[in-house]
Amino acid sequence: MVLKIAIQKSGRLHDDSIQLLKDCGIDVKNGYNQLKSVADNFPMEVYFLRDDDIPQYVEDGVAHIGIVGENVLFEKKKSVDVVEQLGFGKCRLSIAVQKADHYNGVEFLQGKKLATSYPVLTQKFLNENGINAEIHEISGSVELAPSIGLADAICDLVSSGSTLFMNGLQEVQMVLKSEAVLIKAITLDTELQEIVNSLLFRIRAVRKAKNNKYVLLNAPNHSLDKIIGLLPGMKSPTVLPLAEEGWSSVHSVLNEDEFWEKIEALKNAGAQGILVVPIEKMIV
Ligand code: ATP
Ligand code: MG
Repeated sequence: MVLKIAIQKSGRLHDDSIQLLKDCGIDVKNGYNQLKSVADNFPMEVYFLRDDDIPQYVEDGVAHIGIVGENVLFEKKKSVDVVEQLGFGKCRLSIAVQKADHYNGVEFLQGKKLATSYPVLTQKFLNENGINAEIHEISGSVELAPSIGLADAICDLVSSGSTLFMNGLQEVQMVLKSEAVLIKAITLDTELQEIVNSLLFRIRAVRKAKNNKYVLLNAPNHSLDKIIGLLPGMKSPTVLPLAEEGWSSVHSVLNEDEFWEKIEALKNAGAQGILVVPIEKMIV
């Protein structure tokens, strides 16, 4: 049995999808010139597809799992299970209007013309806000629509906002926040499900490791209680005596979110020689 995974052939999700598999110890040959590839050391076959087609392939069971942006997944409305958020491909689907427009809330869109590649999500947003607007579906270069007189506003993906800015537009309303997710066919054989489980186990270990750092520091023994109080560790911090009398080495794991705050607090509590080391895998 091999697990068939669908990933984007080329584009914004391709490299991170391949890298994620790689971090999970699964080596896949590059698929730029081919549709399919086999992993050397994991029962997996990789299909390289347009991202728009991935939900359909997974719904049909042609691919068992896939990596796709939530924006595409929700637009396509296919029946698949979302297994895990993957933390890359982050962007938002937003409404933008021309810089000179005075946007005063969703009412601004009443009776206007909106260009988008996401008609389903745009319509849903308009309905939820009681707005009647005309949707003009286009497949690319949506940001040009207002300047060429095709639409009054657009609903498109944004990450930094620089594309909007360069096209004389301003982002005024977020419709959906999106990131890449792992999706799965609703029913799978037990054996395939087990392969999914072991992939998921690896993905979680890799992602957890990315969000944490290994911290080593020296502490005078009289500050140990205070310093240990600041460090959660996997269970509790490791404390080892230094060769120099009255000092200890403390090892622990810190989460990225609270990292800088904690480092500062540790320093103020008397910690010295603080080393921060990346963690490759983390199994808890
Ligand atoms: P394909 O040829 O596979 O259909 P595409 O042109 O539709 O590719 P890309 O531009 O490569 O798609 O984007 C793929 C996904 O990356 C998007 O659907 C979205 O989930 C994510 N993404 C992240 N940031 C951005 C961004 N700034 N603009 C567009 N997509 C983004
Ligand atoms: Mg696409």
